[in-house]
Amino acid sequence: MSRTPRDHDLAALGERVSAARAAAEARGETFYPGASRVHLSAFPPKERWDDWVELSSRAWPARDEKHYMLVPTTCFNCESACGLLAYVDRDTRQVRKFEGNPEHPGSRGRNCAKGPATVNQVTDPDRVLYPMKRAGRRGEGRWARISWDEALDALAARIRAALTEGRQNEIMVHIGRPGEDGFTERVLASWGVDGHNSHTNVCSSGGRTGFQFWMGIDRPSPDHAHAKVIYLISAHLEAGHYFNPHAQRITEARQNGAKVIVLDTRLSNTASHADYWLSPQPGSEAAINLAIASNLIRTGRYDAEFVRRWWNWAEYLAECRPDLPGTFEAFQAVLAELYAGFTFEYAAAESGLDAAVIAEVAEVVAGAGTRFACHAWRSAAAGNLGGWQVSRTLFLISALLGAVATEGGTFPNAWNKFVPRPIHVPPHPGVWQDLSWPEEFPLAQNELSFLLPHLLKDGRGKLDTYFVRVYNPVWTNPDGLSWMEVLTDEQKVGCFVALTPTWNESAYFADYVLPMGHGSERHDTHSYEQYDGQWVGFRQPVLRAARERLGETVTDTREVNPGEVWEENEFWIELSWRIDPDGALGIRRYHESRACPGRKLTVDEYYGWMFEHSVPGLPERAAAEGRTPLEWMRRYGAFEISRGQGAVHRQEVPAAELTGAAVRGTGRVYTAAPAPDAPNIVPMGAPAPDDQGRRPVGVLIDAVVRRGFPTPSGRLEFWSSTLAAWGWPEHALPGYIKSHVHPSALDPGQVVLLSTFRLPTQIHTRSANSKWLDELSHTNPVWIHPSDAARFGVDRTGDLIRVETEIGYFVAKAWITEGIRPGVVACSHHMGRWKLSGHSQVGAGGMMATVALRAEQAGWAMRATEHVRPYSSADPDTARIWWSDTGVHQNLTFPVHPDPISGMHCWHQAVRVRPAEAGDAHGDIAVDTAKAREVYRRWMAQTRPAGHVSPDGTRRPRWLMRPLKPGAAAFALPGDRSAGR
Ligand code: SF4
Repeated sequence: MSRTPRDHDLAALGERVSAARAAAEARGETFYPGASRVHLSAFPPKERWDDWVELSSRAWPARDEKHYMLVPTTCFNCESACGLLAYVDRDTRQVRKFEGNPEHPGSRGRNCAKGPATVNQVTDPDRVLYPMKRAGRRGEGRWARISWDEALDALAARIRAALTEGRQNEIMVHIGRPGEDGFTERVLASWGVDGHNSHTNVCSSGGRTGFQFWMGIDRPSPDHAHAKVIYLISAHLEAGHYFNPHAQRITEARQNGAKVIVLDTRLSNTASHADYWLSPQPGSEAAINLAIASNLIRTGRYDAEFVRRWWNWAEYLAECRPDLPGTFEAFQAVLAELYAGFTFEYAAAESGLDAAVIAEVAEVVAGAGTRFACHAWRSAAAGNLGGWQVSRTLFLISALLGAVATEGGTFPNAWNKFVPRPIHVPPHPGVWQDLSWPEEFPLAQNELSFLLPHLLKDGRGKLDTYFVRVYNPVWTNPDGLSWMEVLTDEQKVGCFVALTPTWNESAYFADYVLPMGHGSERHDTHSYEQYDGQWVGFRQPVLRAARERLGETVTDTREVNPGEVWEENEFWIELSWRIDPDGALGIRRYHESRACPGRKLTVDEYYGWMFEHSVPGLPERAAAEGRTPLEWMRRYGAFEISRGQGAVHRQEVPAAELTGAAVRGTGRVYTAAPAPDAPNIVPMGAPAPDDQGRRPVGVLIDAVVRRGFPTPSGRLEFWSSTLAAWGWPEHALPGYIKSHVHPSALDPGQVVLLSTFRLPTQIHTRSANSKWLDELSHTNPVWIHPSDAARFGVDRTGDLIRVETEIGYFVAKAWITEGIRPGVVACSHHMGRWKLSGHSQVGAGGMMATVALRAEQAGWAMRATEHVRPYSSADPDTARIWWSDTGVHQNLTFPVHPDPISGMHCWHQAVRVRPAEAGDAHGDIAVDTAKAREVYRRWMAQTRPAGHVSPDGTRRPRWLMRPLKPGAAAFALPGDRSAGR
């Protein structure tokens, strides 16, 4: 075969790469072959990160050298936490750009568009630079600049008063993008409050719940790179956890011949790269999974030995089928019966797919063996009533194939993640926050964050001081105008504090807006499951690190950040000191130096201690270069602790741990002595203690005690004793729950609205303050199939339509496309940013329309009074804005839909679509918050409260995860409610 010019080019490139490698190695330097591992887009060798030279493109052909110091940090624009390298200009001491960090083991030098766009956020002319206090009524839009001291003293006084008066439950910190492991929980534990709230129940709780009930660990860690078959109910080539690190490994697997199966009703970028794209009726995904599982069972192509050893089948038989002998053969017969009804034809009828296509996909899955990697994230698990069964049925396939913790299989995430122990570990709080963990949801995976306005309106409590941190609840959550109603009610929320880098729809209603740093302006540590290994990443203020490299001393991150922008960690330490200035409340000791008792803890000591004492292998690695562990992390940004964790569940428990241990039930092995009440930060995946405080250490498998899984049985729980005991026995097995948008639940004329999908080039709030990302993506038309468009009377792409929900409507533009299933419409949730007219703050000039919000007899009406247009600012590019359409804020028109088991908000909506009426304008919103209350009550009526179902008088099974776990006593239901059991 003759060689093409491209072959010659590649050969020449290869030779040049080899020569460059040899030259670098001769100089004693690291050689990075570039992200693609083929061509010459090589990374700067780390030996030259102190003085990296590039030529100015603007000066060409003159040779104008730019000298940079390259400082690592971590991207904060999604949860993947990819490594970034800041190019700090040695002359101006400013960040010129961000590129990938080749030393990061998860992202390996690669980023998506949102990583380099961090530079836009840093230089954003509209960002918040100084602490602000409202000057008028809440939401009036008048502000006064104040000092940090004024803000800190006022907040400290409020919190101190609440704590000393026994009002611990009136303090809450609500987290949007966490981006770190454990710091905020630690601060709240030190205050003795159960005040952690998260965004997770509008995000990933549904997906997590299904994995949790199987493994005792709530996330999968697929080993995509080595898989033979990759099965995604997510969009992992473009978005989602942890998409860039996963996408690059999925791509490697595809290059090695792996097949990719994608279930996505919409033709996402991920679906467009799949070998099999299945576009099911929304909510039918679990039925498809079960048909594939049923095929494995029916044809005997499952790993029976893995099932025999690792499933809790014996417990299932004993509890649910005492009529049968307790043999594995009896279980195999029952298993076949249980899933016999999930035929390809049944799945086809539910999903609208062709039965032959499902059968073909099932054959591909059956051929994967233990190299079956799967992921379910948001998507169907976040869209539907019972969506958590999507991930539970997906993992059923992995568990049948024995593709659990195998090469190319799927691991429990806790084995591929490492959370170092911090310098001080405060005890569990002794209180229970009903506003986050209401009694109706004893099995909720995370806080019922999106119900907060309704719980406050119910009169279940009030908040004295409410922080939101990188969180924009009015815009992000469903039913945002109910949020606005409570956030402007000082009887319900006494003081509302927004810790944020940018103005946003919620910050406008705050009492204090306190400027926090972007990804290159703050410290955090984090570790995420991205392959079969463990690593710790370090986010840091890059200008601080650069100046320290130059020999300067920086003691406060505000010294290097723009304006008076701070970082959260230093803020929380300072606030904690001011809450407890003399240590009388017992708080201050958790924020004091160990090296110099009585002095305030610094972030250098906090992280220095952590890296020195709790990250295995790092001190030795750093010492080999003559650095302290902190210096090493400041220089390279990430450390790989281990690779190839393998099958932790199979590890034998050392005899020393088994002295006096007891075997209970079907093989769970417990320590002999009660363990002390564990600290609130325990290793990921650590099993919870039993009622006597004894910790499970393993499980007896064929006469050997092995580590097992952190479930009550120690095995993979095909049958969940927890679901059975806590009021949901009918859903204790992997099964199919018909969605609230199942065709049988729709009224005539209704269709399903998919509202959950992300765009690859936007995140949530903060990306609106990135001009590059705004130029790429700034609107969210509604995807409509041509057949539906004809039915609705929508003639052309761009026509205005009304989309009517249960509580109102929004007016959007139509996009007529065959990339969506007939009977389903879809709209991305990223758009429709707004600021209220009359407010002086710009917000995000390239993405926010100015709106008028009017109270009407039937609720609220919003209309844009001014769309985006060019404007003058410190950045000349704001005068070049060429777009005006920034989409519509659809989430305002969605009521809350809490899943009664997982607590996940079920995002999909049953809607009617029709042409807009005369007088409608793009972006119009109408919402009746009284109807929102009715829908809330209807969904709450589906719950089974702990007071009715708890088998032991507690509010929640203690073994289930909880980001901040109160002490054992706080789990007890109050007497009046437990008596009603
Ligand atoms: S995937 Fe993109 S946005 Fe997410 S951390 Fe990586 S670079 Fe940042």
